[in-house]
Amino acid sequence: MSFSEFDLIRTYFSHATGNRGDVLLGIGDDCALLNPPAGRCLAISIDTLVEGRHFLPEVDPAALGHKALAVNLSDLAAMGAEPAWATLAITLPTVDEVWLRAFVDGFAQLAAAHDVQLVGGDTTRGPLSITVQVHGFVDPALALRRSGGRAGDRLFVSGTVGDAALALQRLRDNAAHGTEDACLLARLDRPTPRVALGRLLTGRANAAIDVSDGLAADLRHICEASGVAARVDLSRLPVSPAVAAACDRGDWHCALAGGDDYELLFSVGADQVDAVLAACGAAGEPVQEIGSLVDEEGIALVYPDGRVSKEIPDGFDHFRT
Ligand code: ADP
Ligand code: MG
Repeated sequence: MSFSEFDLIRTYFSHATGNRGDVLLGIGDDCALLNPPAGRCLAISIDTLVEGRHFLPEVDPAALGHKALAVNLSDLAAMGAEPAWATLAITLPTVDEVWLRAFVDGFAQLAAAHDVQLVGGDTTRGPLSITVQVHGFVDPALALRRSGGRAGDRLFVSGTVGDAALALQRLRDNAAHGTEDACLLARLDRPTPRVALGRLLTGRANAAIDVSDGLAADLRHICEASGVAARVDLSRLPVSPAVAAACDRGDWHCALAGGDDYELLFSVGADQVDAVLAACGAAGEPVQEIGSLVDEEGIALVYPDGRVSKEIPDGFDHFRT
């Protein structure tokens, strides 16, 4: 069956997600017409996934649909924003209906979980590439910024770090490690955007970022934006057994510089720590204190044997040669 661009849009994208009351006009016209709530500002973020760069060609299309939206929702989470709308620009080498159905299903399931409506996009032919933009709402006074950290803040991270990087390393090495791999692979392929956590941190955390380039690199972003330094107690890093085994061997790369975690890294003033921990506990959001922001220079890593180092493994940077 041969598809025109318009058949494609109608079949796969027009009804991919549910309808929101604040969408006056969704897919089908030259623009979507949207009604943002009074008094809150729009939080907008966009991310592109390119085959061979961000995902392997053989990746499960449903996982890809999920991840393309998840990495964007993670940015909204890091600002404490409430997700609302998404647009999708997709470039496809061919029309593979099985692939497309799975991709849209993966996207739509995560969209439904966060009440996100797909309101527009663009469909073109070419090397596989997926760009998603998300739009959310946040009270401008409460948005979580990278720049709000202060010396004396305590530093926290959600979930676990390093799993996605270890999964990718094992995929590349083609090394089989049995059932452990399924859990790691899920962390790489289907990251969980910490949207609820980000929202409960608004008004309580001072600074936040989502960990996409590796814990150390993203911590550096907070430090630079906030004009502070940090001290991280590596014995407190929340890691899965597989990543813990690597750290025990002295290989801290996945945990500190792996990237693709999509956890939230945030700093909290001492007077707010109890309130944050209580709120996270009540919401079932796992968070772990890993250090503090300090009034010094650089990022000090305190290894479990007590050694302190300011040498940081690098995170992912597309333009570094
Ligand atoms: P135009 O040529 O005016 O830019 P298009 O033909 O590209 O319009 O798109 C027609 C409609 O379908 C628009 O509302 C557009 O937002 C929507 N659309 C196109 N591709 C996608 C997609 N991949 N996902 C969601 N909506 C899409
Ligand atoms: Mg167009």
